Amino acid sequence: MNLVVPLEQVTLAVEGTDARFPVRRIYCVGRNYLDHIHETAGADEREPPFFFQKPADAILAPGEDFPYPSLTEKLHHEIELVVAINKAGADIKAENALAHIYGYGVGIDMTRRDLQAIAKEMRRPWEPGKAFDHAAPCSNIVPASSIGHPDKGRIWLAVNGEVKQDGDLEHQIWPVADAIAHLSMLFELMPGDLIMTGTPAGVGPLVAGDTVTGGIDGIAEIAVNVV
Ligand code: MN
Repeated sequence: MNLVVPLEQVTLAVEGTDARFPVRRIYCVGRNYLDHIHETAGADEREPPFFFQKPADAILAPGEDFPYPSLTEKLHHEIELVVAINKAGADIKAENALAHIYGYGVGIDMTRRDLQAIAKEMRRPWEPGKAFDHAAPCSNIVPASSIGHPDKGRIWLAVNGEVKQDGDLEHQIWPVADAIAHLSMLFELMPGDLIMTGTPAGVGPLVAGDTVTGGIDGIAEIAVNVV
């Protein structure tokens, strides 16, 4: 194909193989752990899940530095389970959802919290707060064929070695299968889609010079330098 300008396919390494997972879209689940809802103002934990997106090229691959983003004085970390889809589907039933999953990873939903707060206040879109360049650091993808479909396990994040977020996947309000069921009513899921499935309590600020580490037991770990 004779493209006007060349474009590179964003990919993530697949743990234990030479294969790469191509990234099509990045969907994110808002407010999916009770303790995080309770630290954010006034949210109703009985609301159905809601979703937003980050662009595929917001992926920051393992080993790459995270440049402190422009126009924010309140950059926040959110450690999240990442689900990698490899089978298309719309209106997927929760009981069939796991069959659409290739594997899992660990990601950080980097957030310009001050710009997100303005967007909430002014009823504007969330992109400046959530969908900026490099806003989705992500680990390698680990195939479900090797680890299964974890529905519990410690999820944690530390800044300069000090643990800030420490939760468990089993405290997700909408477990992965339910999140896929809801999301696939809104959008037909396609191979290459990633879903970031929300964060436990303890989100907080990052500054240039910080080293962020995190992980999910049985899946993967992540380490990012803020520069
Ligand atoms: Mn998030």
